[in-house]
Amino acid sequence: MIHNSVLFTVMAMSAALAVAADTPAPKKVVKAATLCATQDSKACQDAATPKLILESLKSGNANFVNGKSTPRNYIQQVKATAAGQYPLASVVSCIDSRAPAEIVFDRGIGDIFNARVAGNIVNEDILGSLEFASKVMGAKLIVVLGHTSCGAIKGACDDAKLGNLTQLVAKIKPAVAAVPNDGKDRSSKNYAFVDLVAERNVHMTVQMIRDKSPILKEMEQKGEIMIVGAMYDLKTGKVSWYDPPPAAARKG
Ligand SMILES: [Zn+2]
Repeated sequence: MIHNSVLFTVMAMSAALAVAADTPAPKKVVKAATLCATQDSKACQDAATPKLILESLKSGNANFVNGKSTPRNYIQQVKATAAGQYPLASVVSCIDSRAPAEIVFDRGIGDIFNARVAGNIVNEDILGSLEFASKVMGAKLIVVLGHTSCGAIKGACDDAKLGNLTQLVAKIKPAVAAVPNDGKDRSSKNYAFVDLVAERNVHMTVQMIRDKSPILKEMEQKGEIMIVGAMYDLKTGKVSWYDPPPAAARKG
């Protein structure tokens, strides 16, 4: 009898193992309107809303400014996200070495897409990247992040010409022209003017995303994504936000 009982146990264990091998891992359940510490599943992405993601970037920047950034085990996050990515947001920011989006928003591996280009402008390649990020990969927020004392903005103010940079700077010049002339210096020597142009450039870039990407415009109108502008202060580490349009703010 003992023999039979051992045999039965072994058979039962084998059956259980076979079932375990055939049964997919249970789907991760994440409570709605919450954020995961690591974006390691679609459930994490689905649970987040554009508004919640925006709030998390705001509080992340507050952590950064206060020297209380979240301690992260990056290599653990590498392993947790190796099988797939489920980022929450895209950030279009400048290449400036002092404005790294993940750090200033206190985010880790797999949290955000980051398109960096001098002067945080968009062209069709970056628009394509943003469409990929939101329409294909499910990111729900787009942030255009300018920064103070931006070299590319200064170049546009001074009408700088240098190799391929000339074409890039030309994309910022409409922002220079859009700042009203108050009779003061309009060169890079006028820091206040440079920062006004940087702000105007953020607003125009946000508008350009809507104008040049019907895909993203439609997603924004449906409340599936939000598109917002912001400004990073190189002296304080603080990000100031420009209000999103009321229609987008009302959703999610
Ligand atoms: Zn810059």
